[in-house]
Amino acid sequence: VLGDARNGGPGVDLDDGLGAAPEALLLLTLVLLGPLAAIAFALRHNAPPVTAPVPVASSNGDRPLLFLDIDGVIALSPWSPDLPPGRVYTLGYGLTYVPDAARELVGRLASRFELVWASGWEHQANSGLLTLLGLDDELPVLTFGNKARHGSSDWKIDRIDRYARSRPAAWVDDHFDRRHVHWASDRPEPTLLIPVDPRAGISEEHVERLLEWAASTTRTATSDGTPSRS
Ligand SMILES: [Mg+2]
Repeated sequence: VLGDARNGGPGVDLDDGLGAAPEALLLLTLVLLGPLAAIAFALRHNAPPVTAPVPVASSNGDRPLLFLDIDGVIALSPWSPDLPPGRVYTLGYGLTYVPDAARELVGRLASRFELVWASGWEHQANSGLLTLLGLDDELPVLTFGNKARHGSSDWKIDRIDRYARSRPAAWVDDHFDRRHVHWASDRPEPTLLIPVDPRAGISEEHVERLLEWAASTTRTATSDGTPSRS
């Protein structure tokens, strides 16, 4: 049809300046709709539209890793009965209660572990809690796409496993079940799960246990070069 126009036949004349408009419009539509279609496809198939590389631990430092949950560990429900001394803050996704002791407890852990946020808060952890907890530097953040679900933490296992690689790792969370126990027992490296009561959050006893474990992993790793499982 387009070719016929040059010969005086019916169709669109490419030389009249207006003839290129439909093609340009089609091209523009494809350019604009292509990315939108890709995002719609990704959302429909339950995947994030942008595939970010899975972070892994940046160093092979001598400190063990500690994956730290937030809700039920550091940030408690303000409506829980018998809360430890603390204050209500507007943080994360709304009102949350942070016990006064959290700052000192997390600080002690930061001195002995390489802390990593492992929470549905994702990057809001650094923006919301860093100053409150007195931490100097932003912590690495695990992200979970759209897999985060309130009231569970099995969706964290895969990312934590890949991040930890072959390093000793502890994990503090208020939602552990047999899947976590299997994961921990299957790891050849020293691995420790610390379950926390979400009504009380992390405690002095948890921190003592973690520090003892960190000392034992270092001792075991340096004494015969073969870390043992905890
Ligand atoms: Mg939690």
